[in-house]
Amino acid sequence: MTERMSRQARRRFLKLAVAGAAAMPLSGTLGLRRAQAQEQVSPDDEMAKELGYVEDASQVDAGAWPTYEEGQTCANCQLFHGQQGQETGPCDIFMGNLVAAAGWCSAWVAREG
Ligand code: SF4
Repeated sequence: MTERMSRQARRRFLKLAVAGAAAMPLSGTLGLRRAQAQEQVSPDDEMAKELGYVEDASQVDAGAWPTYEEGQTCANCQLFHGQQGQETGPCDIFMGNLVAAAGWCSAWVAREG
């Protein structure tokens, strides 16, 4: 390797190292924002109303939502990502915001497996 090539390689390495160091705090901030973005979904939110979301599945208006069947809750919905035993968890339909494990909406999908 010539001296010139070696200097070019060193310069390229330093550029990458600086760019990586600059990106680290940014990725940390984005992760924090994502964690903070998890808000509790309210049944009064516009999208929640459109989907018939309720925090207690026993309160579903079966006349308005004929697809509802007893036993369906967010906790056994494929789109729910809460931990077992927790009262709330992130839901894909609500962009990761928190829904009640005991809740329900018309987008309910049977959990596989
Ligand atoms: Fe609950 Fe599933 Fe509707 Fe999300 S999509 S609110 S987890 S029933």
